Amino acid sequence: MSFQNPVFIPGPTNMPEEIRKSIYMPTIDHRSPLFGEILHPALSGVKKVLKSETAEIFIFPSTGTGGWETALTNTLSAGDKVLAARNGMFSHRWIDMCQRHGLDVQVVEATWGTGLPADRYEEILKADTNHEIKVVLATHNETATGVKSDIGAVRKALDAAGHPAMLFVDGVSSIASMDFRMDEWGVDIAVTGSQKGFMLPAGLAIVGFSPKAMAAVEGATLPRTFFDIRDMQKGYAANAYPYTPAVGLMNGLKLATEMLLDEGLENVFARHHRIAEGVRLAVNAWGLELCAQSSDVYSDTVSAIKTPEGFNATDIVTHAASKYGVAYGVGLGEVAGKVFRIGHLGQLTDVLALSGIATAEMVMADLGLDIKLGSGVAAAQDYYRNSTVASQKAAA
Ligand SMILES: *Cc1c(COP(=O)(O)O)cnc(C)c1O
Repeated sequence: MSFQNPVFIPGPTNMPEEIRKSIYMPTIDHRSPLFGEILHPALSGVKKVLKSETAEIFIFPSTGTGGWETALTNTLSAGDKVLAARNGMFSHRWIDMCQRHGLDVQVVEATWGTGLPADRYEEILKADTNHEIKVVLATHNETATGVKSDIGAVRKALDAAGHPAMLFVDGVSSIASMDFRMDEWGVDIAVTGSQKGFMLPAGLAIVGFSPKAMAAVEGATLPRTFFDIRDMQKGYAANAYPYTPAVGLMNGLKLATEMLLDEGLENVFARHHRIAEGVRLAVNAWGLELCAQSSDVYSDTVSAIKTPEGFNATDIVTHAASKYGVAYGVGLGEVAGKVFRIGHLGQLTDVLALSGIATAEMVMADLGLDIKLGSGVAAAQDYYRNSTVASQKAAA
């Protein structure tokens, strides 16, 4: 008997059965046309998910963090100037990685719970008349706080300043779940991983390079070996990797992109939005607040929920795991102990979301919080009953 429950952490996400099966495959020669039949469709599927006509896609056996490193080391040299804002744990970690690589990061501090300040970016870029800033970093969806930022606005800031810096975007917890427009937003490098919107286990760093980012590769002198995209390019041309690829995961990625494109990206985004709205209505019914400070920054993939002063939010996560076998996300960094997170991305339906909301209510009631059982569930039920999604009906 299996007592497996869905997880409500913001990655790794729940996996569709078909994807699990696709990963479990016999060994093949990973330097053969047979591997090419997995590799090339996976690369072109990712390109479509990024909404790009021109990006070159690179997939490494790694995680999102390796994607960050791929972006930096292939395009920059020690001492290069980078502009980045810190509004949560993930933007913080990317900044930390830049610093450890000897890059000169100008950090804009932003309140956790707010989005990236595109207006501050614009001021700084305008003041940088010698164009010393080589790259602007932007975390599309801050998974620690449940905050989405406006990447189009960051692009506008660059354009308004007439600044030639490249724009690198961390889309690890947004790509394949929330609208992402690599070409339209002029994103030069998009970074993600396999275990969030792509509904796979962790193990792949997925990165898209614009032609402008590709042009920066030769001049960049940061050391790189494993993550050198030039070796990867040569490998791909021969249906191979410079080393051994994670063939099963690649097969899963190929299928995941097919499933996402089959559902239709806009339907995928609408489903995530709907499910997130239900969660947010539940939070409101509980009398609790989101860490995200205004509705324009609400994330459709993760909600960070503030608990009352003096209560340790991490107890919710611990108790949910031990009593009900259900996983929620803990607060990270500045908001550790102050928020718990409900991840609502990947393979989720209304029914699964309702189970996550219902279990959270039991947990909070057990721990003595003033939560009326069923209040959040009812708010979400009302919303889900009265707004249906085309792709879910079709699947039924
Ligand atoms: C999960 C996540 C990462 C880190 O990815 P790993 O796969 O754990 O290395 C980076 N950025 C964001 C926004 C994330 O959500």
